[in-house]
Amino acid sequence: MNIAEQREIFIDIMAKFTAFTGKHLPDDVLSKLKELQEKESSPLANIIYDAMFEDLKMASELDRPCCQDTGVIQYFVQVGTRFPLIDEIEDCLREAVKKATIIGPLRHNAVEVFDEKNTGNNVGKRIPWIDWEIVPHSDEAIIYVYMAGGGCSLPGTAKVLMPLEGYEGVVKFVFDQITSYGINACPPLLVGIGIAGSVEVAAKLSKKALLRPIGSHNPNPRGAELESRIENGLNAIKIGPGGLTGENSVMGVHIEEAARHPATIAVGLSTGCWAHRRSVIKITADLDYEIISHKGVIL
Ligand code: SF4
Repeated sequence: MNIAEQREIFIDIMAKFTAFTGKHLPDDVLSKLKELQEKESSPLANIIYDAMFEDLKMASELDRPCCQDTGVIQYFVQVGTRFPLIDEIEDCLREAVKKATIIGPLRHNAVEVFDEKNTGNNVGKRIPWIDWEIVPHSDEAIIYVYMAGGGCSLPGTAKVLMPLEGYEGVVKFVFDQITSYGINACPPLLVGIGIAGSVEVAAKLSKKALLRPIGSHNPNPRGAELESRIENGLNAIKIGPGGLTGENSVMGVHIEEAARHPATIAVGLSTGCWAHRRSVIKITADLDYEIISHKGVIL
């Protein structure tokens, strides 16, 4: 197969997979939503969960996105140094987004900043956003698709705390933000927290925290404990589905960290909404694929 044929196959897979992501929630999100509904005693909260599941059923039946806001497309790429299309990925993903915008369809969500012009195809300067991790000695690519909707991005924030504020300062920062702006992200929320030494690292880690499967824990026992303490605390506020009160507020709290400077504690916060459209695909050197986030799905 020559490079043009390989590109065509890769673009086709990623266009279909990106469009698919807008219509079907991943397995872990679906089972968490079901679990939260089972714990729900409020009649109003149950109506909201019923509406969510009805929405997902209709999206599947009608082959349409499950939310009108299909977001700005972000790809988190873990690519092996021997993956045959490593030089082509960025260009191919831009083409894939253009195709996905038509076959989805996806809402037009890329506005060029200084021109204030919607590009009409979800491709613009540095969009789709691509985050790279290079994997040595591998010939595969693992690609996460994330649809960053307006509402679910709204509570996002990051700040460098004074060292004396300590990790208590991190917790206060998260609670202040979620109780002020969390409702914009259509709860129940997935809360991603990054802790690092500078603001850009913390912000990026907070988004990467949203890519982890729901139910996973930080590998450090203290990190995992902080995750569950914040999750329990946020649930005790009882924001409920749609922000209309209920037994819980969040689907989970994930923390990712990087070693920090002794004089700084930077914290970043990103939120995912109930329609957390994060999907994962593995593509081999032969351009076979396996969808990791949605078991048994063939495009
Ligand atoms: S927060 Fe999520 S569910 Fe709500 S409008 Fe935005 S993308 Fe859709």
